[in-house]
Amino acid sequence: MIQIAPFLSRHLNAAKIALVVITILALFSFPYIPKKTLQVFPATNVWWGAFTDAYSGGNTQFEYQNESQSAIECIMGDLGSFNMCGNSCVFADNHVVTRDQLLADLAFATKISSEISLDLSDYSGVWIDIDYRGPAKFIHLSLQNHEPAVDLADPGRQFRPQSVGIATAELHEPVYVRLKEFKASDWWVTQFGLHRTEGGTRFDRIQAIIAEVKQQPPHTKHYLEIKSITFSGDWISKENFYLSIIVAFAVLLSLEGGFRVYTLYNRHRAAQKKLDALNEHNQKLRSVAFKDELTQLLNRRAIHEIVSKSIELKNQKGLAILIIDIDHFKKFNDTHGHALGDKVLVNVAQSLKQASRDYDQIARWGGEEFVIVTREANPDNLLAYGEKLREKVASCPVFKEGSSDPIFVTISIGITQSHLEENFDVALERADKALYRSKERGRNCCTIFQSGEDIS
Ligand code: GH3
Ligand code: MG
Ligand code: MG
Repeated sequence: MIQIAPFLSRHLNAAKIALVVITILALFSFPYIPKKTLQVFPATNVWWGAFTDAYSGGNTQFEYQNESQSAIECIMGDLGSFNMCGNSCVFADNHVVTRDQLLADLAFATKISSEISLDLSDYSGVWIDIDYRGPAKFIHLSLQNHEPAVDLADPGRQFRPQSVGIATAELHEPVYVRLKEFKASDWWVTQFGLHRTEGGTRFDRIQAIIAEVKQQPPHTKHYLEIKSITFSGDWISKENFYLSIIVAFAVLLSLEGGFRVYTLYNRHRAAQKKLDALNEHNQKLRSVAFKDELTQLLNRRAIHEIVSKSIELKNQKGLAILIIDIDHFKKFNDTHGHALGDKVLVNVAQSLKQASRDYDQIARWGGEEFVIVTREANPDNLLAYGEKLREKVASCPVFKEGSSDPIFVTISIGITQSHLEENFDVALERADKALYRSKERGRNCCTIFQSGEDIS
Protein backbone atom coordinates (compact mmCIF):
# COMPACT_ATOMS: atom_id res chain seq x y z
CA MET A 1 0.00 0.00 0.00
CA ILE A 2 1.26 3.49 -0.83
CA GLN A 3 2.17 5.49 2.24
CA ILE A 4 0.12 8.61 1.51
CA ALA A 5 1.91 11.03 3.84
CA PRO A 6 5.47 10.46 2.57
CA PHE A 7 4.16 10.30 -1.03
CA LEU A 8 2.43 13.69 -0.66
CA SER A 9 5.30 15.32 1.18
CA ARG A 10 7.79 14.17 -1.48
CA HIS A 11 5.62 15.48 -4.32
CA LEU A 12 4.71 18.73 -2.58
CA ASN A 13 8.39 19.49 -2.15
CA ALA A 14 9.00 18.63 -5.81
CA ALA A 15 6.08 20.88 -6.84
CA LYS A 16 7.47 23.74 -4.74
CA ILE A 17 10.91 23.45 -6.31
CA ALA A 18 9.36 23.20 -9.80
CA LEU A 19 7.22 26.27 -9.20
CA VAL A 20 10.18 28.33 -7.99
CA VAL A 21 12.23 27.27 -11.04
CA ILE A 22 9.34 28.00 -13.43
CA THR A 23 8.78 31.41 -11.79
CA ILE A 24 12.45 32.39 -12.11
CA LEU A 25 12.59 31.18 -15.73
CA ALA A 26 9.33 32.94 -16.59
CA LEU A 27 10.46 36.21 -14.99
CA PHE A 28 13.67 36.25 -17.00
CA SER A 29 12.15 35.03 -20.25
CA PHE A 30 9.02 37.24 -20.15
CA PRO A 31 10.49 39.98 -22.42
CA TYR A 32 11.59 37.34 -24.95
CA ILE A 33 8.22 35.65 -25.33
CA PRO A 34 6.99 36.30 -28.92
CA LYS A 35 4.14 38.79 -29.13
CA LYS A 36 0.75 37.88 -30.43
CA THR A 37 0.02 39.80 -33.60
CA LEU A 38 -2.95 40.52 -35.83
CA GLN A 39 -2.25 41.71 -39.37
CA VAL A 40 -5.22 43.80 -40.44
CA PHE A 41 -3.69 44.99 -43.71
CA PRO A 42 -2.53 43.79 -46.22
CA ALA A 43 -5.51 41.43 -46.17
CA THR A 44 -8.38 40.59 -48.50
CA ASN A 45 -11.18 41.12 -46.01
CA VAL A 46 -10.81 44.89 -45.62
CA TRP A 47 -12.19 47.67 -47.72
CA TRP A 48 -10.56 51.07 -48.18
CA GLY A 49 -12.78 54.06 -48.74
CA ALA A 50 -11.55 57.64 -49.10
CA PHE A 51 -13.53 60.54 -47.67
CA THR A 52 -13.17 64.29 -47.66
CA ASP A 53 -14.76 67.47 -46.38
CA ALA A 54 -17.35 67.14 -49.14
CA TYR A 55 -19.95 66.03 -46.57
CA SER A 56 -19.68 69.47 -44.92
CA GLY A 57 -19.68 71.42 -48.16
CA GLY A 58 -15.96 71.34 -48.91
CA ASN A 59 -14.36 70.79 -52.29
CA THR A 60 -11.30 68.69 -51.54
CA GLN A 61 -10.63 66.28 -54.41
CA PHE A 62 -9.17 62.80 -54.21
CA GLU A 63 -8.13 59.96 -56.44
CA TYR A 64 -7.26 56.35 -55.60
CA GLN A 65 -3.68 55.49 -56.50
CA ASN A 66 -3.78 51.71 -56.43
CA GLU A 67 -6.17 48.87 -56.91
CA SER A 68 -6.71 48.11 -53.22
CA GLN A 69 -7.52 51.83 -52.72
CA SER A 70 -5.13 51.98 -49.79
CA ALA A 71 -3.31 54.86 -51.49
CA ILE A 72 -4.97 58.20 -52.30
CA GLU A 73 -3.91 61.57 -53.58
CA CYS A 74 -5.84 64.65 -52.50
CA ILE A 75 -5.91 68.27 -53.58
CA MET A 76 -7.08 70.27 -50.59
CA GLY A 77 -10.15 72.39 -51.05
CA ASP A 78 -10.53 75.94 -49.79
CA LEU A 79 -12.89 75.28 -46.86
CA GLY A 80 -10.27 76.91 -44.65
CA SER A 81 -9.56 75.38 -41.29
CA PHE A 82 -12.15 72.58 -41.80
CA ASN A 83 -10.76 70.96 -44.91
CA MET A 84 -9.62 67.37 -44.71
CA CYS A 85 -8.86 64.24 -46.66
CA GLY A 86 -8.62 60.72 -45.30
CA ASN A 87 -8.72 57.03 -46.04
CA SER A 88 -10.71 54.58 -44.00
CA CYS A 89 -9.98 50.88 -43.59
CA VAL A 90 -13.27 49.11 -42.93
CA PHE A 91 -13.47 45.48 -41.89
CA ALA A 92 -15.70 43.43 -44.14
CA ASP A 93 -15.04 39.81 -43.59
CA ASN A 94 -14.92 38.27 -47.07
CA HIS A 95 -16.88 35.30 -45.84
CA VAL A 96 -19.81 37.59 -45.29
CA VAL A 97 -19.64 40.11 -48.05
CA THR A 98 -17.53 40.67 -51.17
CA ARG A 99 -15.47 43.76 -51.70
CA ASP A 100 -17.42 44.54 -54.88
CA GLN A 101 -20.66 44.58 -52.91
CA LEU A 102 -19.14 47.07 -50.52
CA LEU A 103 -17.91 49.29 -53.29
CA ALA A 104 -21.25 49.22 -55.02
CA ASP A 105 -23.30 50.26 -52.05
CA LEU A 106 -21.90 52.74 -49.53
CA ALA A 107 -24.97 52.49 -47.28
CA PHE A 108 -24.47 48.75 -47.19
CA ALA A 109 -20.80 49.29 -46.38
CA THR A 110 -21.73 51.53 -43.45
CA LYS A 111 -24.09 48.89 -42.15
CA ILE A 112 -21.47 46.17 -42.54
CA SER A 113 -18.88 48.26 -40.78
CA SER A 114 -21.17 48.56 -37.76
CA GLU A 115 -21.78 44.84 -37.72
CA ILE A 116 -18.27 43.56 -38.31
CA SER A 117 -15.75 44.62 -35.75
CA LEU A 118 -12.55 43.45 -34.17
CA ASP A 119 -11.95 43.01 -30.49
CA LEU A 120 -8.54 44.56 -30.03
CA SER A 121 -8.77 45.13 -26.30
CA ASP A 122 -6.23 42.34 -25.64
CA TYR A 123 -3.61 44.07 -27.80
CA SER A 124 -1.31 46.76 -26.49
CA GLY A 125 -0.48 48.68 -29.67
CA VAL A 126 -0.40 48.86 -33.45
CA TRP A 127 2.45 48.89 -35.95
CA ILE A 128 1.50 51.09 -38.88
CA ASP A 129 3.49 51.80 -42.02
CA ILE A 130 2.36 54.99 -43.81
CA ASP A 131 3.86 56.58 -46.87
CA TYR A 132 2.96 60.27 -46.83
CA ARG A 133 4.11 62.94 -49.22
CA GLY A 134 2.92 66.46 -48.71
CA PRO A 135 3.21 69.54 -46.46
CA ALA A 136 1.15 68.22 -43.48
CA LYS A 137 3.02 68.01 -40.16
CA PHE A 138 0.64 65.40 -38.68
CA ILE A 139 -1.36 62.42 -39.82
CA HIS A 140 -4.35 61.76 -37.59
CA LEU A 141 -4.82 58.06 -36.95
CA SER A 142 -8.21 56.96 -35.59
CA LEU A 143 -9.59 53.67 -34.27
CA GLN A 144 -13.33 53.83 -34.59
CA ASN A 145 -15.16 51.75 -31.97
CA HIS A 146 -18.76 50.77 -32.64
CA GLU A 147 -20.93 52.57 -30.10
CA PRO A 148 -24.70 52.24 -30.71
CA ALA A 149 -25.61 53.86 -27.40
CA VAL A 150 -24.69 57.43 -28.33
CA ASP A 151 -26.97 57.88 -31.32
CA LEU A 152 -29.62 55.28 -31.75
CA ALA A 153 -31.33 57.05 -34.63
CA ASP A 154 -28.43 57.28 -37.08
CA PRO A 155 -26.37 54.10 -37.64
CA GLY A 156 -23.77 56.18 -39.46
CA ARG A 157 -23.03 58.05 -36.25
CA GLN A 158 -22.87 55.10 -33.96
CA PHE A 159 -19.16 55.11 -33.35
CA ARG A 160 -16.64 56.30 -30.81
CA PRO A 161 -13.80 58.15 -32.59
CA GLN A 162 -10.47 57.65 -30.87
CA SER A 163 -7.41 59.27 -32.36
CA VAL A 164 -3.76 60.11 -32.01
CA GLY A 165 -1.54 62.47 -33.99
CA ILE A 166 1.54 61.00 -35.68
CA ALA A 167 4.21 63.42 -36.79
CA THR A 168 4.86 62.94 -40.49
CA ALA A 169 8.58 63.29 -39.73
CA GLU A 170 8.40 59.87 -38.03
CA LEU A 171 6.89 58.16 -41.01
CA HIS A 172 10.10 57.23 -42.84
CA GLU A 173 9.70 53.85 -41.09
CA PRO A 174 6.81 51.88 -39.49
CA VAL A 175 5.72 53.43 -36.19
CA TYR A 176 4.41 51.67 -33.14
CA VAL A 177 1.49 53.43 -31.50
CA ARG A 178 0.34 52.17 -28.11
CA LEU A 179 -3.44 51.89 -27.66
CA LYS A 180 -3.01 53.97 -24.50
CA GLU A 181 -1.98 56.95 -26.68
CA PHE A 182 -5.39 57.11 -28.38
CA LYS A 183 -7.89 59.63 -26.98
CA ALA A 184 -11.60 59.85 -27.60
CA SER A 185 -12.10 62.93 -29.80
CA ASP A 186 -13.12 66.05 -27.94
CA TRP A 187 -15.77 67.04 -30.52
CA TRP A 188 -17.47 63.65 -29.99
CA VAL A 189 -17.45 63.93 -26.17
CA THR A 190 -18.85 67.46 -26.27
CA GLN A 191 -21.34 66.77 -29.07
CA PHE A 192 -23.03 63.97 -27.12
CA GLY A 193 -22.50 65.66 -23.73
CA LEU A 194 -20.84 62.55 -22.36
CA HIS A 195 -19.85 62.08 -18.79
CA ARG A 196 -16.12 61.89 -18.06
CA THR A 197 -16.41 58.17 -17.30
CA GLU A 198 -18.22 57.48 -20.59
CA GLY A 199 -15.90 59.48 -22.81
CA GLY A 200 -12.80 57.25 -22.55
CA THR A 201 -11.41 54.81 -25.08
CA ARG A 202 -12.66 51.33 -25.96
CA PHE A 203 -11.13 48.81 -28.29
CA ASP A 204 -13.52 45.88 -28.05
CA ARG A 205 -15.55 46.65 -31.23
CA ILE A 206 -13.19 48.38 -33.63
CA GLN A 207 -14.96 48.74 -36.97
CA ALA A 208 -12.57 51.00 -38.88
CA ILE A 209 -9.04 52.41 -38.89
CA ILE A 210 -8.71 55.87 -40.41
CA ALA A 211 -5.72 57.96 -41.45
CA GLU A 212 -6.33 61.56 -42.43
CA VAL A 213 -4.77 64.97 -42.94
CA LYS A 214 -6.70 68.10 -42.04
CA GLN A 215 -6.54 71.88 -41.82
CA GLN A 216 -4.16 72.16 -44.76
CA PRO A 217 -3.55 75.14 -47.04
CA PRO A 218 -5.94 75.15 -50.03
CA HIS A 219 -4.78 73.47 -53.24
CA THR A 220 -1.95 71.60 -51.56
CA LYS A 221 -1.29 68.05 -52.75
CA HIS A 222 -1.16 65.09 -50.35
CA TYR A 223 -0.19 61.51 -51.14
CA LEU A 224 -1.30 59.07 -48.40
CA GLU A 225 -0.69 55.36 -48.61
CA ILE A 226 -1.22 52.90 -45.81
CA LYS A 227 1.13 50.00 -46.43
CA SER A 228 0.49 47.84 -43.42
CA ILE A 229 -1.40 47.71 -40.15
CA THR A 230 -0.52 45.07 -37.56
CA PHE A 231 -1.75 44.96 -33.98
CA SER A 232 0.57 43.54 -31.38
CA GLY A 233 0.18 42.44 -27.78
CA ASP A 234 1.37 40.05 -25.10
CA TRP A 235 -0.11 36.57 -24.93
CA ILE A 236 -0.59 37.13 -21.25
CA SER A 237 -0.61 40.52 -19.59
CA LYS A 238 2.06 41.19 -16.98
CA GLU A 239 -0.68 41.65 -14.37
CA ASN A 240 -2.23 38.26 -15.19
CA PHE A 241 1.19 36.66 -15.33
CA TYR A 242 2.10 37.85 -11.81
CA LEU A 243 -1.39 37.02 -10.60
CA SER A 244 -1.05 33.44 -11.90
CA ILE A 245 2.23 33.04 -10.03
CA ILE A 246 0.67 34.36 -6.82
CA VAL A 247 -2.36 32.08 -7.27
CA ALA A 248 -0.12 29.06 -7.96
CA PHE A 249 1.91 29.74 -4.81
CA ALA A 250 -1.27 30.32 -2.79
CA VAL A 251 -2.70 26.99 -4.00
CA LEU A 252 0.54 25.20 -3.23
CA LEU A 253 0.82 26.74 0.24
CA SER A 254 -2.84 25.89 0.97
CA LEU A 255 -2.17 22.32 -0.15
CA GLU A 256 0.86 22.15 2.08
CA GLY A 257 -1.11 23.59 5.01
CA GLY A 258 -3.89 21.07 4.43
CA PHE A 259 -1.36 18.28 4.17
CA ARG A 260 0.29 19.31 7.45
CA VAL A 261 -3.06 19.41 9.23
CA TYR A 262 -3.86 16.00 7.74
CA THR A 263 -0.51 14.58 8.89
CA LEU A 264 -0.92 15.99 12.39
CA TYR A 265 -4.43 14.59 12.56
CA ASN A 266 -3.18 11.15 11.46
CA ARG A 267 -0.36 11.20 13.97
CA HIS A 268 -2.79 12.19 16.66
CA ARG A 269 -5.08 9.32 15.66
CA ALA A 270 -2.24 6.82 15.64
CA ALA A 271 -1.09 8.02 19.07
CA GLN A 272 -4.65 7.79 20.37
CA LYS A 273 -4.95 4.24 19.00
CA LYS A 274 -1.71 3.23 20.72
CA LEU A 275 -2.92 4.79 23.94
CA ASP A 276 -6.24 2.94 23.73
CA ALA A 277 -4.42 -0.34 23.03
CA LEU A 278 -2.11 0.30 25.99
CA ASN A 279 -5.06 1.11 28.25
CA GLU A 280 -6.83 -2.05 27.15
CA HIS A 281 -3.69 -4.09 27.69
CA ASN A 282 -3.24 -2.46 31.09
CA GLN A 283 -6.79 -3.30 31.99
CA LYS A 284 -6.19 -6.94 31.02
CA LEU A 285 -2.97 -7.03 33.00
CA ARG A 286 -4.74 -5.56 36.00
CA SER A 287 -7.52 -8.07 35.83
CA VAL A 288 -4.97 -10.90 35.48
CA ALA A 289 -2.91 -9.46 38.29
CA PHE A 290 -5.85 -9.13 40.61
CA LYS A 291 -7.77 -12.32 39.79
CA ASP A 292 -7.49 -15.88 40.92
CA GLU A 293 -7.37 -18.02 37.86
CA LEU A 294 -9.18 -21.09 39.21
CA THR A 295 -12.11 -19.49 41.03
CA GLN A 296 -12.24 -16.11 39.23
CA LEU A 297 -12.39 -14.46 42.65
CA LEU A 298 -10.08 -11.63 43.66
CA ASN A 299 -6.60 -12.64 44.79
CA ARG A 300 -4.49 -11.64 47.78
CA ARG A 301 -2.93 -8.66 45.94
CA ALA A 302 -6.40 -7.30 45.09
CA ILE A 303 -7.49 -7.42 48.73
CA HIS A 304 -4.38 -5.48 49.83
CA GLU A 305 -5.13 -2.89 47.15
CA ILE A 306 -8.76 -2.60 48.17
CA VAL A 307 -7.93 -2.28 51.83
CA SER A 308 -5.25 0.35 51.19
CA LYS A 309 -7.79 2.44 49.28
CA SER A 310 -10.73 1.94 51.57
CA ILE A 311 -9.99 4.61 54.14
CA GLU A 312 -13.44 6.06 53.52
CA LEU A 313 -14.97 2.63 54.16
CA LYS A 314 -13.03 2.28 57.41
CA ASN A 315 -13.90 5.78 58.56
CA GLN A 316 -17.58 5.53 58.13
CA LYS A 317 -18.65 2.06 58.96
CA GLY A 318 -15.57 0.12 59.99
CA LEU A 319 -14.14 -2.91 58.25
CA ALA A 320 -14.54 -6.59 58.95
CA ILE A 321 -12.41 -9.53 57.82
CA LEU A 322 -13.59 -13.11 57.46
CA ILE A 323 -11.08 -15.93 56.91
CA ILE A 324 -12.60 -19.10 55.55
CA ASP A 325 -10.83 -22.49 55.42
CA ILE A 326 -12.19 -25.73 54.03
CA ASP A 327 -12.27 -28.47 56.64
CA HIS A 328 -10.15 -31.57 56.21
CA PHE A 329 -9.38 -30.68 52.70
CA LYS A 330 -6.16 -32.57 52.59
CA LYS A 331 -8.12 -35.69 53.39
CA PHE A 332 -10.68 -34.77 50.73
CA ASN A 333 -7.93 -34.57 48.15
CA ASP A 334 -6.48 -37.81 49.26
CA THR A 335 -9.87 -39.53 49.10
CA HIS A 336 -11.40 -38.03 45.95
CA GLY A 337 -8.46 -36.77 44.03
CA HIS A 338 -6.98 -33.34 43.36
CA ALA A 339 -9.22 -32.66 40.37
CA LEU A 340 -12.39 -32.96 42.44
CA GLY A 341 -10.64 -30.87 45.08
CA ASP A 342 -10.29 -28.12 42.47
CA LYS A 343 -13.97 -28.48 41.65
CA VAL A 344 -14.74 -28.02 45.36
CA LEU A 345 -12.70 -24.82 45.39
CA VAL A 346 -14.77 -23.45 42.48
CA ASN A 347 -17.97 -24.62 44.16
CA VAL A 348 -17.11 -23.00 47.47
CA ALA A 349 -16.19 -19.78 45.67
CA GLN A 350 -19.62 -19.74 44.02
CA SER A 351 -21.39 -20.43 47.30
CA LEU A 352 -19.51 -17.62 49.03
CA LYS A 353 -20.50 -15.26 46.24
CA GLN A 354 -24.13 -16.29 46.34
CA ALA A 355 -24.33 -15.76 50.09
CA SER A 356 -22.71 -12.32 49.91
CA ARG A 357 -23.71 -8.82 48.82
CA ASP A 358 -22.20 -6.89 45.91
CA TYR A 359 -19.94 -4.76 48.05
CA ASP A 360 -18.42 -7.77 49.89
CA GLN A 361 -14.91 -8.28 48.50
CA ILE A 362 -14.27 -12.01 48.24
CA ALA A 363 -10.77 -13.34 47.53
CA ARG A 364 -9.05 -16.67 47.34
CA TRP A 365 -6.23 -16.18 49.84
CA GLY A 366 -4.28 -19.21 48.73
CA GLY A 367 -4.75 -22.99 48.82
CA GLU A 368 -8.20 -23.68 50.21
CA GLU A 369 -8.42 -20.47 52.21
CA PHE A 370 -10.64 -17.50 51.36
CA VAL A 371 -10.80 -13.96 52.77
CA ILE A 372 -13.80 -11.65 52.68
CA VAL A 373 -13.49 -7.93 53.45
CA THR A 374 -16.82 -6.28 54.21
CA ARG A 375 -18.01 -2.98 55.62
CA GLU A 376 -20.34 -4.59 58.15
CA ALA A 377 -19.56 -3.37 61.71
CA ASN A 378 -22.12 -5.06 63.89
CA PRO A 379 -20.71 -8.30 65.49
CA ASP A 380 -24.11 -10.02 65.49
CA ASN A 381 -24.62 -9.23 61.85
CA LEU A 382 -21.12 -10.46 61.09
CA LEU A 383 -21.79 -13.75 62.83
CA ALA A 384 -25.08 -14.06 60.96
CA TYR A 385 -23.21 -13.44 57.70
CA GLY A 386 -20.61 -16.08 58.63
CA GLU A 387 -23.39 -18.55 59.39
CA LYS A 388 -25.04 -17.83 56.10
CA LEU A 389 -21.76 -18.56 54.30
CA ARG A 390 -21.18 -21.72 56.26
CA GLU A 391 -24.69 -23.04 55.61
CA LYS A 392 -24.52 -22.22 51.94
CA VAL A 393 -21.25 -24.12 51.48
CA ALA A 394 -22.48 -27.05 53.57
CA SER A 395 -25.59 -27.36 51.43
CA CYS A 396 -23.91 -27.28 48.02
CA PRO A 397 -22.46 -30.74 47.18
CA VAL A 398 -20.04 -31.68 44.42
CA PHE A 399 -20.37 -34.81 42.32
CA LYS A 400 -17.71 -37.11 41.05
CA GLU A 401 -17.79 -37.54 37.32
CA GLY A 402 -20.33 -40.20 36.40
CA SER A 403 -21.65 -40.38 39.98
CA SER A 404 -24.82 -38.96 41.45
CA ASP A 405 -23.67 -39.33 45.04
CA PRO A 406 -23.39 -35.89 46.58
CA ILE A 407 -20.20 -35.09 48.43
CA PHE A 408 -20.37 -32.28 50.95
CA VAL A 409 -17.60 -30.14 52.39
CA THR A 410 -17.73 -27.76 55.29
CA ILE A 411 -15.86 -24.59 56.12
CA SER A 412 -14.59 -22.98 59.30
CA ILE A 413 -14.67 -19.21 59.62
CA GLY A 414 -12.70 -16.71 61.69
CA ILE A 415 -14.08 -13.18 61.88
CA THR A 416 -12.68 -9.91 63.25
CA GLN A 417 -13.19 -6.19 62.95
CA SER A 418 -10.50 -3.74 62.01
CA HIS A 419 -10.11 -0.04 62.72
CA LEU A 420 -8.36 2.82 61.02
CA GLU A 421 -5.18 3.07 63.09
CA GLU A 422 -4.56 -0.66 62.89
CA ASN A 423 -2.31 -2.38 60.37
CA PHE A 424 -4.35 -4.69 58.16
CA ASP A 425 -1.95 -7.59 58.79
CA VAL A 426 -2.59 -7.36 62.53
CA ALA A 427 -6.34 -7.65 61.92
CA LEU A 428 -5.69 -10.51 59.58
CA GLU A 429 -3.70 -12.33 62.21
CA ARG A 430 -6.57 -11.91 64.66
CA ALA A 431 -9.04 -13.31 62.12
CA ASP A 432 -6.66 -16.22 61.61
CA LYS A 433 -6.68 -16.85 65.33
CA ALA A 434 -10.47 -16.82 65.30
CA LEU A 435 -10.35 -19.37 62.48
CA TYR A 436 -7.98 -21.52 64.48
CA ARG A 437 -10.46 -21.35 67.32
CA SER A 438 -13.24 -22.53 64.99
CA LYS A 439 -11.07 -25.47 63.98
CA GLU A 440 -10.48 -26.22 67.66
CA ARG A 441 -14.16 -26.07 68.31
CA GLY A 442 -14.71 -28.96 65.91
CA ARG A 443 -14.85 -27.10 62.57
CA ASN A 444 -17.94 -26.14 60.47
CA CYS A 445 -18.52 -23.09 62.70
CA CYS A 446 -17.82 -19.34 63.00
CA THR A 447 -15.73 -17.54 65.62
CA ILE A 448 -15.51 -13.79 66.01
CA PHE A 449 -12.61 -12.04 67.77
CA GLN A 450 -13.01 -8.47 68.85
CA SER A 451 -9.80 -6.75 70.00
CA GLY A 452 -8.49 -10.11 71.18
CA GLU A 453 -11.68 -11.14 72.97
CA ASP A 454 -13.46 -14.30 71.92
CA ILE A 455 -17.14 -13.55 71.87
CA SER A 456 -18.45 -16.57 69.99
P1 GH3 B 1 -8.10 -28.43 58.32
O1 GH3 B 1 -9.48 -28.84 58.54
O2 GH3 B 1 -7.32 -28.32 59.61
O3 GH3 B 1 -8.00 -27.18 57.57
O4 GH3 B 1 -7.45 -29.58 57.53
P2 GH3 B 1 -6.88 -29.50 56.13
O5 GH3 B 1 -6.63 -30.82 55.60
O6 GH3 B 1 -7.80 -28.67 55.28
O7 GH3 B 1 -5.56 -28.78 56.43
P3 GH3 B 1 -4.92 -27.66 55.61
O8 GH3 B 1 -5.80 -26.51 55.61
O9 GH3 B 1 -3.54 -27.44 56.15
O10 GH3 B 1 -4.79 -28.39 54.26
C1 GH3 B 1 -4.62 -27.71 53.03
C2 GH3 B 1 -4.79 -28.67 51.93
O11 GH3 B 1 -5.49 -28.04 50.85
C3 GH3 B 1 -3.49 -29.13 51.39
C4 GH3 B 1 -3.72 -29.31 49.96
O12 GH3 B 1 -3.83 -30.70 49.65
C5 GH3 B 1 -5.04 -28.66 49.68
N1 GH3 B 1 -4.96 -27.70 48.68
C6 GH3 B 1 -4.34 -26.49 48.73
N2 GH3 B 1 -4.46 -25.83 47.54
C7 GH3 B 1 -5.17 -26.65 46.71
C8 GH3 B 1 -5.64 -26.54 45.37
O13 GH3 B 1 -5.41 -25.57 44.67
N3 GH3 B 1 -6.34 -27.58 44.90
C9 GH3 B 1 -6.61 -28.69 45.61
N4 GH3 B 1 -7.33 -29.68 45.08
N5 GH3 B 1 -6.20 -28.81 46.87
C10 GH3 B 1 -5.49 -27.83 47.41
MG1 MG C 1 -5.80 -24.45 55.29
MG1 MG D 1 -8.32 -26.73 55.65
